[in-house]
Amino acid sequence: MSNTLHHYVNGARVAGTSERFGDVFDPATGEVAARVPLASASETARVIDAAAAAFPAWRDTPPLRRAAILFRFKELLDRHTDEIAQLIAAEHGKVLNDARGSLTRGIEVVEFACGAPHLLKGTFSENVGTNVDSHSVRQPVGVCAGITPFNFPAMVPMWMFPMAIACGNTFVLKTSERVPSTALRLAELFSEAGLPPGVLNVVNGDKEAVDTLLTHPDVAAISFVGSTAVAEYIYQTGTRHGKRVQALGGAKNHMVVMPDADLEQATDALMGAAYGSAGERCMAISVAVAVGDDTADALIGRLAPRVAALKVGPASDPASEMGPLVTQAHFDRVKGYVDLGIEEGAQLVVDGRGIQVAGHPNGFYLGGCLFDHVTEDMRIYREEIFGPVLVVVRVPDFERALALVNAHEYGNGTAIFTRDGDTARSFASRVQVGMVGVNVPIPVPMAFHSFGGWKRSLFGDVHMHGMEGVHFYTKLKTVTSRWPTGIRAGADFHMPTMK
Ligand code: NAD
Repeated sequence: MSNTLHHYVNGARVAGTSERFGDVFDPATGEVAARVPLASASETARVIDAAAAAFPAWRDTPPLRRAAILFRFKELLDRHTDEIAQLIAAEHGKVLNDARGSLTRGIEVVEFACGAPHLLKGTFSENVGTNVDSHSVRQPVGVCAGITPFNFPAMVPMWMFPMAIACGNTFVLKTSERVPSTALRLAELFSEAGLPPGVLNVVNGDKEAVDTLLTHPDVAAISFVGSTAVAEYIYQTGTRHGKRVQALGGAKNHMVVMPDADLEQATDALMGAAYGSAGERCMAISVAVAVGDDTADALIGRLAPRVAALKVGPASDPASEMGPLVTQAHFDRVKGYVDLGIEEGAQLVVDGRGIQVAGHPNGFYLGGCLFDHVTEDMRIYREEIFGPVLVVVRVPDFERALALVNAHEYGNGTAIFTRDGDTARSFASRVQVGMVGVNVPIPVPMAFHSFGGWKRSLFGDVHMHGMEGVHFYTKLKTVTSRWPTGIRAGADFHMPTMK
């Protein structure tokens, strides 16, 4: 028996009225666990109205008071970590430790946002001219919207709304319709922390809700994370309607393994980075670039038995290292890529298709897959698979490895494993990718730095959270003032200068 979920508007759960619903699955069992209402355009517009009505009072609330609410929110998140991790795991399928870790990375953004009074401090210049002063302040932009993917039900929304709200904006979150429960709970806890009604609202829905957010005149800024095709659409449509947009897209993250790398360390890194969260991470490593055949052979020799031995099972089993994929449709898509790789002539070293998880015959489980001898022209190399599939590309030297990474259409994350400082430095400096790891496979920036890729992994100019987040969610205003003390210079028709 499945339950019906709600929207969250003005500090309360609100039933959907569109009569359209989506299924939410328990990926571990394959059963429908809930129905999520898919908001109509008019329902979405009402949610935007709630956020717009709450904006003036929230904008005028001193940052210190906003921060006090964020502090209480952080305490509640700490207290409810296990409950939220369960919600994430139940709808996404990722194992509990992974779910907890992703929530922690979201809580860290709340901690950073607690510094709102400091982050929003302006600058002041005395005497830019005689008796003339200038000061600059950052002011909130208004109603901001967030549109988020299925793979991080807590963390990705938390890259957005704590920052936007700390900066004095109100927020409408359109979370992924495949994992809707977590965001609803986060919004409830924020209300419990003292957030006024209407400051954070959650609307569940699909393209109809998104299109309303993209075109509604009262929405000032849009933050998006999801696939590249949708990111590009969001950016183009949102900017055409006069909105500030940051739209983060897909990825194909390469890890270069140099011949001098510590291969045990590199193998451990690849196991976690390629197969953690069943590869459903935008910072997952999906391509290992082995420099030299000896490196490739040694790497494959170490990886193959470990990939074959991965413990695949439900999140509820503490022994599981990797959970199911999120839906049957996504399972079919990922499995389709494994079939395709064989057709394209790559060598499937470990085949995770057809695994059975005891007691869960209908769960969306795919075992770890490992391809060797993958080439640049193959679709399994060029396209994002977003599943537990690692492809190994062999190159003869460092320059070819760097050229390969730079030629790819995506530029989200990358890593190099080497003991050589010159090589590492050259890679970090010359690679056309937004987030780079040196002997660190998943270089996700901390909350006080900013997250974002290059090339077709990000449309827009500004990354998420950190100071880039503050800039995205505020507008700069510069005030120049003079307090006349009896000086009368007469009308001046020249461009004002201070000379
Ligand atoms: P998705 O693009 O299918 O969906 C993302 C959001 O867009 C959802 O809220 C969805 O409802 C909405 N949406 C989907 N199709 C739409 C359409 N045609 N018009 C308007 N809105 C639409 O992505 P997903 O499958 O939920 O998530 C996986 C993708 O997200 C992967 O490509 C992954 O790389 C990417 N991702 C990127 C980052 C990053 O930081 N760059 C982080 C996490 C995930």
